[in-house]
Amino acid sequence: MQKRDAIFLEDLCPKLRARHWRKSLHAFTGKSCIYCGKNSESIDHILPRSQGGQTITENCVPACLSCNGLKSNTEAFYWYRQQQFYDPRRAMAIRAWMDGDLSLALRLIKWANPSLITTSFDSANKTIDNWNLQAA
Ligand SMILES: [Zn+2]
Repeated sequence: MQKRDAIFLEDLCPKLRARHWRKSLHAFTGKSCIYCGKNSESIDHILPRSQGGQTITENCVPACLSCNGLKSNTEAFYWYRQQQFYDPRRAMAIRAWMDGDLSLALRLIKWANPSLITTSFDSANKTIDNWNLQAA
């Protein structure tokens, strides 16, 4: 299948596009929860949807089900600081992520967890840029 066909298909089918987008977010952090570093099984809205948080890359981070569920509708940084696994480098990574500086976010995540195997910067950035461009 041609790449252009894939994009065309995703235009027709927003669900497929959303799935690709979520996958690229997980790949970016090496399928690890941005808060605690465990396996990421869900996408968490930093600012909850109930509080007007949008489903965009800057507001959506890979999270494990436990963090996603525990955080619920609490303000992300307030909640995070109270956790035993709180790591200031990860908090900075989340800030950078919200600012749209994903390469800085990735550097901070890797600093917090050097053994992490993530998608390389360039390819992850490119994927996410592509999705952002298409979403715009
Ligand atoms: Zn977690």
